[in-house]
Order: sequence, then C-alpha cells, then structure tokens
Amino acid sequence: MANEKILIIDDDPLVIRLAELIIKNINLQPLSALKGEDGIEVAIKERPALIILDLMMPEMNGWETLSQIRKTECIQDTPVIILTARVGATGDLIGTQNKPHYEAFLPKPFSMQEMRDKINEILNRAP
Ligand SMILES: [Mg+2]
Repeated sequence: MANEKILIIDDDPLVIRLAELIIKNINLQPLSALKGEDGIEVAIKERPALIILDLMMPEMNGWETLSQIRKTECIQDTPVIILTARVGATGDLIGTQNKPHYEAFLPKPFSMQEMRDKINEILNRAP
C-alpha cells in the first residue's frame, strides 16, 4: 500500500490546521511540526511521502531544515514543497541560488484547491 503520510512543517498553527484539513480531505494522513528540528525528527520516524515546508521560521528556517533533510540519508529523497510568501512579481520563488533541492513551491496565501492540486501533482495522483 502506498505511503499516505504528508508532513507539514510551519511555525503558524493556523497554516498547520488548514493544511491538515486539506490533507485529510484528499484521504491522506497529516503529520505536523511547528519547528524545523521537530519536523526532521517526525520525518525520520514516520517517513512521510511528502513534506510541505515553510521557509520563514524562527530558530531553524526552511532552507536550513531542507538542507538537513537532504543530508539525512533515510529521508533525503523525500519530495518537498516549499511554502512561502517570498515570491517575486512573476510569481517565482525569491533567493533560490545555491539552495538545496525542492520539488515545488506554493506561494502563501494559498487556496485549498491550490494546495490539493500541488500535493496530487507531486504524488502523481489523479486530482
Ligand atoms: Mg512562517
């Protein structure tokens, strides 16, 4: 059976709650963490199929967290969707030079439909 766990790492509890709703709504199992360090621990333990990662977090930010994920053997190939308000006028993610690999990004604020579509796209699921 396919891995149905999706991990959301964001310091904003409201974003976590919304993402959990969306994830449950498409019959996947949400996991969450409010800090990068905690998120990495959960990922190592639970091996989610996908990680949704906020960039702007106190202590360990999203890029630092992603860099750790890519260096941690058991989770380094997990697809990651970056969540951020830092997008330019063209809708591109800002400041991605020399940053660790990520599969996609979702600008904040996002709609339920946008997050759902992005998750399905990365997991190659039918919408
Ligand atoms: Mg944040």
